[in-house]
Amino acid sequence: MSTMNLAVAVAEAQHSIPSCEQWPVALVRGAGTTVWDAEGREFLDLYGGHGTCLIGHAHPRWVSAVTQQAARLGFYSNVTPSDARARFLERLACFAPRHLARAFLCNSGAEANEAAIKLAMRATGRSGVLAMEGGFHGRTAGALSLTHLGSYRGRFPALVRPVPAVRFGDLEAVSTRLDSDTAAVILEPIQSMAGVRVADDEYYPELVRRCHANGTLVIFDEVQTGMGRLGACFAADLWSAFVDIVTTAKGLGNGFPMAAVLATEAVAATVAAGDHGTTFGGGPLACAAGLAVLEVLEAEGLLARAAAMGEYAKRLAGAGPVRAVRGRGLLVGLETTVPAREVAALLLARGILTGTSSDPHVLRLLPPLTVGEAELDRLARTLSEMPGGVA
Ligand code: PLP
Repeated sequence: MSTMNLAVAVAEAQHSIPSCEQWPVALVRGAGTTVWDAEGREFLDLYGGHGTCLIGHAHPRWVSAVTQQAARLGFYSNVTPSDARARFLERLACFAPRHLARAFLCNSGAEANEAAIKLAMRATGRSGVLAMEGGFHGRTAGALSLTHLGSYRGRFPALVRPVPAVRFGDLEAVSTRLDSDTAAVILEPIQSMAGVRVADDEYYPELVRRCHANGTLVIFDEVQTGMGRLGACFAADLWSAFVDIVTTAKGLGNGFPMAAVLATEAVAATVAAGDHGTTFGGGPLACAAGLAVLEVLEAEGLLARAAAMGEYAKRLAGAGPVRAVRGRGLLVGLETTVPAREVAALLLARGILTGTSSDPHVLRLLPPLTVGEAELDRLARTLSEMPGGVA
């Protein structure tokens, strides 16, 4: 690590409680798909600010929306109605699946998933939840109880009531576990952290049909797949899955912390004031950021671009150590012949940021939806120069 990056890392480590393993660069600035470290070195950000920067870093419309709102009213909670929140909710309702026009606004993916579980329990009067093997839903106590991926949960004693999990993509496995107390089944429509795992097209609508026949709600955790990343507004749209609840976060505020639980009128109607709440959720700055994201997604045609660039990314198959490409739109998994961590480290050394996953042979790309062919070509060229080639 170079001196200035190291100085930042050491200063931070002195006073922080460790959370994730850190990259050996301290990022200080961003614009579009580019970020710069403390030394002024430039990186192509194909990890999109941890999957959050949908419209690119420091998009001028986003910057101006947030700064103008900060100058007008930085914060008041939802104890009072807000013009910024009303405008955002109206726009979000148009972007959301048509039957999910009600939203609860909060701050993170984990918080959204916990709220979704409470809503499902309230709406059904039941208490059971079913999750998926390989699923990731966050690290707070409740969200962790839904998470069966890797060792996230195993590191702690059972924090809240354990939630069973069934094999992702297996309809029979779900059917056999549904009972009269199952309030909800929760799943990531594409298991991203598990290595960008996608089920068959028929799985999604049929899963919903079977759950509904049992009086069970379906929750799609679209923290990563939502907000246009797949080339459709949500995975629920892509697969015509009439789920009851969708949670979304990451791209919603383009990095401004915010999340939403989208629900049907029927679910929303069962909730009374005081059943659930948050201080910061739906604050005016977050809503200004979210509105700017929705406006830019439409104005710049970014959903169509995500679909097109997702197709283009398939050409990465065969580039250096990449043996296959999976995913939808710009949630891209690159299957590698050598450990993905090694590929990510080599790419970082050559100025390209990517993500790994729990699958040691899957590298993940979650770039801004503004990414272009030239940038994906640069990745292909850089991969081609690496060891472990499949060609
Ligand atoms: N759900 C999914 C699918 C995620 O990928 C994540 C985070 O990566 C979460 C939930 C948790 O979101 P947060 O870290 O904002 O709590």
